[in-house]
Amino acid sequence: MKVGVLGGGQLGRMMALAGYPLGLRFRFFDPSPDAAAGHMAEFVSGSYDDLDAVERFAAGLDAITYEFENVPAETARYLAERLPVHPTPAALEVAQDRLIEKTFFRKLGFQTPAFAPVDSRNDLDAALREIGLPAVLKTRRDGYDGKGQAVLQHVAEIDTAWEQLGGRPLILEAFVPFERELSIVAARGLDGSFRAYPLVENEHRAGILGRTIAPAPGLTPELQSTAEACVSAAMMELGYAGVMTIEFFEHQGRLLVNEMAPRVHNSGHWTIEGAETSQFENHLRAVLGLPLGSTAVRGYSTMLNLIGATPEWSTMLGIDGLHLHLYGKDPRPGRKLGHVTICATDPTALEERLKAFVESLHRS
Ligand code: AMP
Repeated sequence: MKVGVLGGGQLGRMMALAGYPLGLRFRFFDPSPDAAAGHMAEFVSGSYDDLDAVERFAAGLDAITYEFENVPAETARYLAERLPVHPTPAALEVAQDRLIEKTFFRKLGFQTPAFAPVDSRNDLDAALREIGLPAVLKTRRDGYDGKGQAVLQHVAEIDTAWEQLGGRPLILEAFVPFERELSIVAARGLDGSFRAYPLVENEHRAGILGRTIAPAPGLTPELQSTAEACVSAAMMELGYAGVMTIEFFEHQGRLLVNEMAPRVHNSGHWTIEGAETSQFENHLRAVLGLPLGSTAVRGYSTMLNLIGATPEWSTMLGIDGLHLHLYGKDPRPGRKLGHVTICATDPTALEERLKAFVESLHRS
């Protein structure tokens, strides 16, 4: 079977790596001719609204999925008229707009930070009166890794934030003084079967994911079941097949939805070595109508992103339980170039291996 993937970044590359043992073949589509997945499968480069290129990509495929959530929903719908496309393009529409997304989760009965739409300076003043400070002003669309947003602590910062972001559809959110950020990755099959990985704890630096700890320390069955209920309700509502990720803020024992990703996710990379079936394999199983694999963990894992520059890595390969993934991308500040997952059967051994990893960075 040949699977087409819209988006050709590292997520697609790892999807192909998970699919080859199942005998699957891949073709990727990405606007950038040197996208990371292009090194390892058939590749079509073009703009997402170039229907000739999209047709060339789709010819002869058995199914289509995506690894990038800003694929235009119209392109996904166009393809869905011809071929099985999962997850449903409706999920793209929800995930691409923060206002639609937060409204969607509220309607399902889950909590989010307080929010209000902002389309004008008057709206911003009204939203600030309602929500108060501190708050976060964000673009509704095209924001990722902390881009397109401004934290407002003081009244004096409002004008600058408006100058930077105004003119586009915006959303104002209450700033949540969260204890920590958690996310859940789950898979839903074409037959409605459901499997979830445990909640993980994520640490961001300058808006970019730096580290994921799996499972989240101190995870309670109540938190896990709230998160599972949320992702499962979202999937049911959308008639979803594939992997979905939901990011939460944990605040005073509650989970507030921050955002969803209708795809495999950076906070699920640890599953490659740290779970019985990886998120990438489960995504492929789900979209192809195959039985889902066990999401049980194998011990304790920590995933660390390699951002901006790749450290000298030969020394770290000497650390037991360490798995290095390099994406074949050119270094650039703020760019995710690879990741390391360190696994162990108990938290103390994991701590020692992490220490050895940090020392290996200092030696390089
Ligand atoms: P986002 O692109 O919306 O996921 O935001 C990137 C990061 O900014 C999040 O992972 C949080 O660390 C922080 N952030 C976003 N929204 C809020 C909020 N409403 N309250 C507090 N921190 C936020």
